[in-house]
Amino acid sequence: MSNNGKSLLLAAALCVWAAAASSAAEPVAPGAAAPNAETGPFTLPPLPYGEGALSPFISTETVRYHYGKHHKGYVTVLNNLTAGKPEAGRTLEELVKTVPTGPLFNAAAQVWNHTFYWNSLKPNGGGEPSGDLAAAIARDFGSFAQFREQFSQAAGSLFGSGWAWLVLDNGKLKVVQTSNAGNPLRQGQTPLLTLDVWEHAYYIDYRNVRAEYVEAAIDRLLDWGFAQSNFAKAGKP
Ligand code: FE
Repeated sequence: MSNNGKSLLLAAALCVWAAAASSAAEPVAPGAAAPNAETGPFTLPPLPYGEGALSPFISTETVRYHYGKHHKGYVTVLNNLTAGKPEAGRTLEELVKTVPTGPLFNAAAQVWNHTFYWNSLKPNGGGEPSGDLAAAIARDFGSFAQFREQFSQAAGSLFGSGWAWLVLDNGKLKVVQTSNAGNPLRQGQTPLLTLDVWEHAYYIDYRNVRAEYVEAAIDRLLDWGFAQSNFAKAGKP
């Protein structure tokens, strides 16, 4: 049996157990979400490195909260919102691309965005891309330095909470911002890299100085290999 199948069986078993347990304490409203949503079909992917691996630029404490509380919390909310509904059988990317703006979109996109964010970073990252991605950056931004300036500006200037992205849009590289849970897939763009600029991404380490977090992430943590692999995949039908 696949892990997914095991998860579904376990979820069903836990739902029955939870319904029995909760019925003794208080009535459950019709259509209420299953309380054991952590075992639903959407799961928290493992971090691609240890929670201390991005230190000192992003501390263990930040990763512990950001991944272990925020990211995990979005998975729980997504499972709650989709429990017993057709959306539970759709892929995360389908939900991000198609569901109307609202709580379900927010949960799905925040799960997708955070998984993409962890993969956009790595210990001993930063530097510059190579190969055809480097050539495309030079073509579309003029130089890597000009790309870097645009990306830093986008991450630093975004008002409120959101994300800065390097995307491929109709064959051209662009830097874009999205607010809150926004995701470039909604605009038909292909994300290559992202940086989370919600306060929870940096406040423990940098307090209100977002620019220091942005500079450290760009120069020390961005994973250009991940961007290159997304770029290569985007070029294929
Ligand atoms: Fe975040």
